[in-house]
Amino acid sequence: MTGRARIRQRLARLREALERARVDALLITSVPNVTYLSGFTGEDSALMVTGRQSVLITDSRYTEQAGAECPEARVHEHRQGLLGAVTRLVRRRGLSRVGFEESMPHGWYVELRSALGARRLVLQGAVVERQRQVKDAGEVGAIRRALAVGESWWGRRRRLLRPGRTEREVAAELVYAMCRSGAQGEAFAPIVAVGGRASLPHARPGGRRLGPGRPVLLDWGAAVGSYKCDLTRVLAPSRMTARFREVYGTVLEAQEAAIAAVRPGVTAGSVDAAARRIITRAGYGKQFGHGLGHGVGLEVHELPRIRKRDGTILQPGMVFTIEPGIYLPGRIGVRIEDMVLVTDNGCEVLTTAPKKPAHRK
Ligand code: ZN
Ligand code: ZN
Repeated sequence: MTGRARIRQRLARLREALERARVDALLITSVPNVTYLSGFTGEDSALMVTGRQSVLITDSRYTEQAGAECPEARVHEHRQGLLGAVTRLVRRRGLSRVGFEESMPHGWYVELRSALGARRLVLQGAVVERQRQVKDAGEVGAIRRALAVGESWWGRRRRLLRPGRTEREVAAELVYAMCRSGAQGEAFAPIVAVGGRASLPHARPGGRRLGPGRPVLLDWGAAVGSYKCDLTRVLAPSRMTARFREVYGTVLEAQEAAIAAVRPGVTAGSVDAAARRIITRAGYGKQFGHGLGHGVGLEVHELPRIRKRDGTILQPGMVFTIEPGIYLPGRIGVRIEDMVLVTDNGCEVLTTAPKKPAHRK
């Protein structure tokens, strides 16, 4: 299927949802949602999808790019403001119920409401984000490419993770290595945490230096095209303490149990529970504070959320992370994160970097 056919298919599915919601059009203002439904990769633009047409409203910086990227959309170049152009379009088409996204800035809502009247604007929640949960073949291919680039330096990690380097240097080298392998850049600012700093789940890389006696936690991802990846590995110190070994083993066991629990028809909450049960039984329940995982695609954090009691039913084509962790403040932090694709009868682990506690030397 061509990119154009995929966009057409996505628009057809969206229109079914709009029909059910009885709106004449949806105003899409979130950048990744605009990309998903049009192919456009620029910013500061909006897409108006009606029953028959989609119109990309952009400015002169992007007109040429939009013409090349969006074969399914009519490109409208505005000169005096995006919202003024949206208002005129709504009036000209005689649209009486226009859906808008929950992520639209409140200031935009206020401006549109005063121009169009509150009755014309209908909140549509996360309709596009929900549709994006299930990836089509083109998206799965794009995510695989992002992961291949994200993992490309792993075979050379000994060189990159030389003792004496600081967390900041490693983070910069890692991004550089991914760009040399074809990434546009990082999917998010990498986390490189040496020793006890790994107990901060979102530690910022600082001046701590790598050394053979210190474990290091790396959480990183590449952006390739418009798609992202996200993975975490912990490199064990050359001599592991009994406690480190126990924590690492528990996280790995929990992660593998969660992966084994993924299949269509089960809830996201039940996958979270499969990991949490093992960590709680080992006595570390309170040290695993975050959810188990999240969808990844055009954004590094998107639906579905894999967390406690979440009722989302897993479906083939969903792509998300499985990333349990145990954090002992100032001492130990271990998280292992893979990306999985839900298949017809289970899941495929997309990440390939080995998970056995890799020694650093
Ligand atoms: Zn991550
Ligand atoms: Zn993640």
